[in-house]
Amino acid sequence: MNKIIAFFVPTFIYLVIFAFNVLLPGRWVIGYVTKPNSTEKMRYHLNGILVFFVVVLLWILLGCSHIISCDWLYQYRWHELAGAFTFGIIVSLAVMLPYPRIKKSFWSDFYLGRVENLQLLSGRIDVKMWLYLAGATLLELNIVSFAIHHWILYGVNASPGIYLTTILITYFLIDYLTFEEVHLYTYDLFAEKVGFKLAWGCLVFYPYFYAVSLWSTVDLPNPHTPTWLFGIYALIFFFGWSLSRGANLQKYFFKKNSGKPFLCIVPKTITDGNKILLINGFWGISRHVNYLGEILMGIGIILCTGYPTLIGPWLYPLYYVAFLFPRQKDDDIRCELKYGALWDEYKEKVPYRIIPFIY
Ligand code: NDP
Repeated sequence: MNKIIAFFVPTFIYLVIFAFNVLLPGRWVIGYVTKPNSTEKMRYHLNGILVFFVVVLLWILLGCSHIISCDWLYQYRWHELAGAFTFGIIVSLAVMLPYPRIKKSFWSDFYLGRVENLQLLSGRIDVKMWLYLAGATLLELNIVSFAIHHWILYGVNASPGIYLTTILITYFLIDYLTFEEVHLYTYDLFAEKVGFKLAWGCLVFYPYFYAVSLWSTVDLPNPHTPTWLFGIYALIFFFGWSLSRGANLQKYFFKKNSGKPFLCIVPKTITDGNKILLINGFWGISRHVNYLGEILMGIGIILCTGYPTLIGPWLYPLYYVAFLFPRQKDDDIRCELKYGALWDEYKEKVPYRIIPFIY
């Protein structure tokens, strides 16, 4: 019976997140993307951080009141994954089928989607933002459940590295939701459609694969990693975070007001009289230093598990490399088209794509 329930649990949690996303109070903000065939910017109802905490709190209350065991999501993770997989396919079809064809191939439309931005209930739900919120929240429930499973197994002999990994992933998620508005200025929002890649990616890949560092180590005993090594791993994470968050925030403030300093960095720019690009601060280090930051955060997270020679945890930062390096190339092509000769000038001034002096 539990296995059948587990199959439907991700769907249930996603629907609860949907309801809270609609019903809980939020901020209305003007985004970066313009409405189709218009110059008017899209509006978003943002309350991700509140929904996240309410859902996590409700789950903890269920655990504390012994309605479910606190590591339930770990025990039935394969059945939940199967349920999330199925729901992910259904949502991918639902956001694609009702809309006019774009490509000849059904599969291409299915994978990439047909509409760029989909909002429901007078804009109270933006499908892309809901997808990210849903994935982030279930990922948090998963990792907490995985960490509790480790505690149940090992008690006082548990590995501090498992808790540190859980804390860093939690930090990563809370950070994302705190700066939810900044996400409105990213590639996913302005350059991607809503299809399988995004819907399935957020509902299945995000909450399960991003937990792979813990999934593959919570059953293992304490590797007795020295405390000073944890310090280094945490530094790698926070160094990565500074690069990523710094670059994203600098660009966000620049897009809102191109003259305003960020962290005392006065924007230096190049322009062709029409378009304008930042060339200093984080955007002067490399053209996508935020991607380097993301990869370093991933490395910091998985090292904290204390099993640096296991392949399982490494899948996480390796995925970032496989995902972000081609994305940088795609973004370069997009920017070449949008900015023309100005982009070439930027490339001359900032020659490195991601890793300064190397790539
Ligand atoms: P960016 O935030 O780097 O956005 C690229 C866009 O920024 C370009 O298309 C261009 O768009 C604008 N831009 C580029 N260079 C400049 C410049 N010098 N001056 C002004 N504008 C510039 O990329 P993403 O949206 O891909 O990533 C955003 C963040 O999200 C990153 O930190 C990334 O690592 C993270 N991310 C995390 C993922 C995860 O799973 N954890 C997945 C994917 C991304 P415009 O047309 O607006 O000028």
